[in-house]
Amino acid sequence: MKTGLNQNQQNEIRAAAIGFYSIMRSAPVPEVRLDLRGRAAGQWRIRDGIELLRFNPEAFLLDWDAHFPATVAHEVAHSLVYRRHGPRRVRPHGPEWKEIMAALGFPPVVTHRTPLTGRRSRVYIYKCKCRAHRLGPRRHYLVTRRGYRYSCADCGSRLHFDDHAEWK
Ligand SMILES: [Zn+2]
Ligand SMILES: [Zn+2]
Repeated sequence: MKTGLNQNQQNEIRAAAIGFYSIMRSAPVPEVRLDLRGRAAGQWRIRDGIELLRFNPEAFLLDWDAHFPATVAHEVAHSLVYRRHGPRRVRPHGPEWKEIMAALGFPPVVTHRTPLTGRRSRVYIYKCKCRAHRLGPRRHYLVTRRGYRYSCADCGSRLHFDDHAEWK
């Protein structure tokens, strides 16, 4: 899938995860996906006994140094807590997790400061004669690459992409 991260960055994230499991002598390394959206920079989860590490490409794009490799360590530490302590209830960022973060050489940082939009995809601002319109990537693609034209349902004038408008 398209993450916005280059192949080298994607490889580095996966390699960091592999490295952390190796340091802690724990195997196997779960699948690493760069498909997380929303406000969280990373996620560890287990379903039907299968672990998965997910990372938010937007976080790494906006603030690589803040997340690489600390966010990878953060999520791997959740996995290692589970492997050590099993499904019994331990606080997610409790002493067991902090101990593993320390062993991996990271401060036990729970929250990040990257202003993630949490949006699934970008919104493009178009303007007609009466107002602004928000178009998704597909319609924007059709306009810019395929010559499609959209008109405003209210005033009937053609929509023009406004590349100076801020997307929010
Ligand atoms: Zn966490
Ligand atoms: Zn209009």
